[in-house]
Amino acid sequence: MRSFFTIILILTCSCTSFSQSPEEIIKSIFNNALTDNTAQEHLLYLCKNTKGRIPGSQEALHAARYTMNALAEAGVDTVWLQEVPVPHWERGNELAVLESSLGTLELTISALGLSVGTEPGGIDAHLVEVHNFEQLEEIGRDNINGKIVFFNRPVDNTLINTFSGYGGAVDQRISGASEAAKYGALAVIVRSPTQARHDFVHTGVVRYQENIPEIPAVCVSPHDAEILSRWLKNDNKSILHLVSDCRNYRDTISYNVIGEIRGSEKPNEYITVGGHLDAWDISEGAHDDGGGCVQSIETVRLFRELGIKPRRSIRAVMFMNEEMTSTGGVVYADEAEKKGEIHYAALESDRGVMSPLGFGFGNAGDERLEKLFRLEEYFKPYGIRYFARGGGGSDISPLRRFNTLQIGYIPDTQKYFWFHHSANDTFEQVNIREMQLGSAAIASLIYLIDLYDL
Ligand SMILES: [Zn+2]
Repeated sequence: MRSFFTIILILTCSCTSFSQSPEEIIKSIFNNALTDNTAQEHLLYLCKNTKGRIPGSQEALHAARYTMNALAEAGVDTVWLQEVPVPHWERGNELAVLESSLGTLELTISALGLSVGTEPGGIDAHLVEVHNFEQLEEIGRDNINGKIVFFNRPVDNTLINTFSGYGGAVDQRISGASEAAKYGALAVIVRSPTQARHDFVHTGVVRYQENIPEIPAVCVSPHDAEILSRWLKNDNKSILHLVSDCRNYRDTISYNVIGEIRGSEKPNEYITVGGHLDAWDISEGAHDDGGGCVQSIETVRLFRELGIKPRRSIRAVMFMNEEMTSTGGVVYADEAEKKGEIHYAALESDRGVMSPLGFGFGNAGDERLEKLFRLEEYFKPYGIRYFARGGGGSDISPLRRFNTLQIGYIPDTQKYFWFHHSANDTFEQVNIREMQLGSAAIASLIYLIDLYDL
């Protein structure tokens, strides 16, 4: 049954092209998304033909060309590339072997993005295991200098919000190298931040502090982190032989890809829906974030195919370089500022493409939030019931300067960190129906926000 709120809105909305009710339009969006194969084909292509598309790579350029065509095929009015300065880093040979009185143990490792490499021939050093940065201070420089620091604090699995768990452990990966280097460490090896105890190793960016020696940083699989810790307890004189031939090159240029449907009434107001096109070199970037890009393309495809004429201009944006230095989102907002564009709302899908739970809304006052929360009624028939305060995404966050509503797509993320930033993030790990449900939910939300001036 249509709510009172809905009836009021329908009477006041200036929807031009439809005699159908919003409920009927949303149903047609879900019907189309759940029976059309375009999204599956796009994701398959990105995963299998542009695998390893880190910023600055040829694969990333290939992905930009591909999604530009995909947006054109989806029927956008205009599609273009936006230049983005990006780092250029490449992985090399990697090896970590522990020599201990217990024997020899080869570890599954992965260099962190933007990390410096080891000297040719590698590093041979004793290890010191810690769980946090305070412990470095307690142990002291005398016991760390000339060693490799092993950060082994696991993700807190008691936290139901998997992103909170990840957030509580990822400081070791991001800042561990500089923190350990302050005490004379030669390198760091970091337990992969994930709820899983498997053999997949995570990667991700390391950030060096200024005026601190830059030392090599690698992650180790959670399973090997457990074994390494056990072996060190038995023999703390073990020596790790660590080789990582990764390198930083001069910055280069890559691209955001932007496809736009011109608004019928307020063409100079924009609603952005996006994901990031770059992905880690060891992964296919299926959940992170090829799926988010495909859902953004789906949003404009669904509008076009179903003849939905948005009042505002809708942009699907494939942001470049979220993973390393997040320049794509900054360039997009800077150019919007130069052109005096009005950015009404922005949504990002970058938490994987599992089944939709709902949306989080950030950068909105209580009154706007209350109206947005009432939209939940439209989504209940599809099992989507989580409308929460707070949300967004790193690529759309630079739009906050325009007071733009920030929306984060929220799927069920209990398995997300089994894939995240690892070789396990493959096309095969995506349940296409779940991704389709997400696309339909995103397109429906954008349609309602535009329709009702929310
Ligand atoms: Zn991501």
